[in-house]
Amino acid sequence: TRSAAQWSDFGRDHVCHGLGRLKDHVIVRGDGLDLYTAEGKKLLDFTAGIGVTNLGHCHPHVSQAAAAQVNNLVHLQCSISFHAPYLQLIEKLLPAMPHESLDQFFFWNSGSEAVEAAIKLARQATGRQNLIVFNGAYHGRTMGSGALTRSKPIYTQGTGPLMPGVFSTAFPYWHSLGVNPSTSEEELVRLAEHQLDLILRQQTAPKDVAAIFIEPVQGEGGYVACPPAFLKHLRQVCDKHGILLVIDEVQSGFFRTGSYFAIDQLAPELRPDVLVFAKGVANGFPISGIASNKDLMSKLDVGSMGGTYSGNAVACAAGVAAQEVYQSGEIEKNVAARGAELTDYLRKIADSPKTKHLVAEVRTMGLMSSIEFRIPTDPLTLEGVPQGTNVPKNIGKRVQEYCLDRDLMVLTTSCFDTIRFIPALTVSQEQIKTAMDIFTAAVENVAR
Ligand code: PMP
Repeated sequence: TRSAAQWSDFGRDHVCHGLGRLKDHVIVRGDGLDLYTAEGKKLLDFTAGIGVTNLGHCHPHVSQAAAAQVNNLVHLQCSISFHAPYLQLIEKLLPAMPHESLDQFFFWNSGSEAVEAAIKLARQATGRQNLIVFNGAYHGRTMGSGALTRSKPIYTQGTGPLMPGVFSTAFPYWHSLGVNPSTSEEELVRLAEHQLDLILRQQTAPKDVAAIFIEPVQGEGGYVACPPAFLKHLRQVCDKHGILLVIDEVQSGFFRTGSYFAIDQLAPELRPDVLVFAKGVANGFPISGIASNKDLMSKLDVGSMGGTYSGNAVACAAGVAAQEVYQSGEIEKNVAARGAELTDYLRKIADSPKTKHLVAEVRTMGLMSSIEFRIPTDPLTLEGVPQGTNVPKNIGKRVQEYCLDRDLMVLTTSCFDTIRFIPALTVSQEQIKTAMDIFTAAVENVAR
């Protein structure tokens, strides 16, 4: 047997070098928001596996359902027959859909694969090729989904040419548009609408566009919620030109923002043509999917969709149990209460005379919260900072390291200098306090 340190060395030697890592801990157990290392150290997890274990690590109801399924049926290739948990998961998801038209499902394993499925559906159903995405977007890093990702070149650099036919436009976010953080939402929407209009007039004929892909809350892009008016506008543009609207709720779904899906709050009337989901659906078991309407799905050639592990029985059973917990109402209440507390802590940091010169913006929606720090070389982020104020470089990384050294796991996002908070939605008031006391001290430490 190896010691914990030896296992870390082993990992550094044999785990693919291209996989980045926050810390070389070896985790052996998870319970709620606690992670335990091979050395017996306890860590407070504010990452939830990047928004996956929304109900906490090893939620008993979900784990027990999975364990029971392991003894019934582990796998059945879905192009051989239906299996019961697959159908039961659809039955649970149907009433949770943000629009009643979303009544047909295809399951896959990862978010990226589900995005691939959405691309395939959009192209087959419309007979068109082009796709429009938003700057700052993250839709995956496979060859198709990677072509849609616009948050950081590292995800696909050196691997092109990627899938052609993808056009990228500004998200209604000040960075994306090159304007100041204090720009009004109305103005951001107007500017982003203009950019989209230019794409459709100058770069691709609308009749060649199969779909517009959007994250209602950009995840890797910095936890930026899309203004409701812009989502409405997209629906109008899509309707006018026969373009499909694909809503990627991989990171924002399953009560992360306080409602089942983010668009339930941002645009309650919105009809997505395709909804993409993954991460939180089965609280850690690998399953993802797309939901669409029968009309569109019926345009797919039979046999064109599939995959050996599509809709694995254990993952589906875990998904059924997870929906039972999501649908109990408890999670929604906790997200509202804990999200408000977390936001208060972040606003205090943004308002405190000690730290306010470091903060560009606080953004929160439920427990999908972020704090964006100023960047000394990026004048946009320095709005309102008196000349001569010392704004250091890489604030987020330094804050993150301070937290990691104190056994609090927090993540940055891919874009700009932003820390995001994605604890399990079962987080307690004490855990929010513990984490935010450490985090506040971390920001004060950088300000010193
Ligand atoms: N879409 C969004 C919005 C995501 O946040 C992610 C993952 N961060 C993906 C797609 C890709 O999911 P996966 O990593 O499971 O392939």
